[in-house]
Amino acid sequence: MMHNYAGAVSSGAVMFLAPRPEKVFVRGEGAWLYDDSGRRYLDFVQGWAVNSLGHSSPIVRDALLTQATRVINVGPGYFNEPMCRLAEKLSCLSGLGRVFFANSGAEANEGAVKLARKWGSVRRSGAYEIVVFDHAFHGRTLAMMSASGKPHWKDLFEPKVPGFVRVVRDDISAVRNAIGPGTAAVMLEPIQGEAGVVPFSESYLREIRSLTEELGVLLILDEIQTGIGRTGRMFCFEHAGIHPDIVTVGKGIGGGVPLTAMLAREEVCLFEAGEQGGTFNGNPLMTAVGLAVVGEVSRPEFLARVRENGDYLAGQLSAVSIESGFREVRGMGLLLALELNQPIAPNIVEAALDRGLLINGPRPSVLRFMPALNVTREEIDQMIAILRESIRAVGSS
Ligand SMILES: *Cc1c(COP(=O)(O)O)cnc(C)c1O
Repeated sequence: MMHNYAGAVSSGAVMFLAPRPEKVFVRGEGAWLYDDSGRRYLDFVQGWAVNSLGHSSPIVRDALLTQATRVINVGPGYFNEPMCRLAEKLSCLSGLGRVFFANSGAEANEGAVKLARKWGSVRRSGAYEIVVFDHAFHGRTLAMMSASGKPHWKDLFEPKVPGFVRVVRDDISAVRNAIGPGTAAVMLEPIQGEAGVVPFSESYLREIRSLTEELGVLLILDEIQTGIGRTGRMFCFEHAGIHPDIVTVGKGIGGGVPLTAMLAREEVCLFEAGEQGGTFNGNPLMTAVGLAVVGEVSRPEFLARVRENGDYLAGQLSAVSIESGFREVRGMGLLLALELNQPIAPNIVEAALDRGLLINGPRPSVLRFMPALNVTREEIDQMIAILRESIRAVGSS
């Protein structure tokens, strides 16, 4: 059967989760996305930082097609080749001995918390508490919503899953005071993405690492947004030169397909048979794509380009900020945010959409930029031109 995308499609049967623009996207190529009327958009959201190689990259397509002709699923009860290869590759790149594959970031994070609780039960007299931070975002399962520090979620879907102890950001003594005999781990995002791209400083991350070592608890880094090249290094923790015990990655690792992973030091991997798993976890179709994406992103020249283009984009955003009277530009590599001087992010996002640009406003006064990691200078220049027009349109309305 031929699919005809020219006719209008109705979105009425899709469950409401958040307001979405009345557009239906049908095709993507590199930095560009096309709607069902044939209009194109420069995409600086890229599926929420997941399309690390852009839309429908040949690398992702080839991996999918090749693996689909070999085998799609052997189930979680057996090893498969791409699963083993990707685990080995991630282990080499991270220095963490063992890898658990999952299908969403929330599931990888739950895996990390379960592993930390297991470790606490065996190695720390039953300790199970996880110290988490204000404004953190770790996903949308009940436990991960309980771990997250989004002010909006405070009283949502009660009762919360117990065992998470929240501390304020950037106060090392608060972290020290929160760690007791019942603590199994400290968990944080090196850059809080959903909070508006708010980084912990490298020195703070080093302090957290030495504190957790000193007090004998685990350090879990949620690198679902920052990992796999996004900040110009394979993992964000490399910038601070620290070695966490457990790291989760997601979003960009699949280049658009649902694949995530939890990486852990061999000594903490205490799961016994049947304690953790999942039907689709580590399936060869997704891990084959992950292998292709990680192979490309981990090339030193590729990462160097991410850093160069990230610096270039940050420079351009700073110029926009100065001329518009906005505030700071934050972030690293190609995960950047522009702090505005008033809560007009939704207006700018809408004006940009009207002008064929997709950007995101994680907070009312913050714009976030997360293009494909192989974005070009020319595409950055095009984005900045449309952004300027959009800011002007909002300012004069
Ligand atoms: C997106 C994200 C998650 C959740 O990932 P899902 O795949 O949506 O479950 C968790 N942590 C961070 C830091 C994220 O950016």
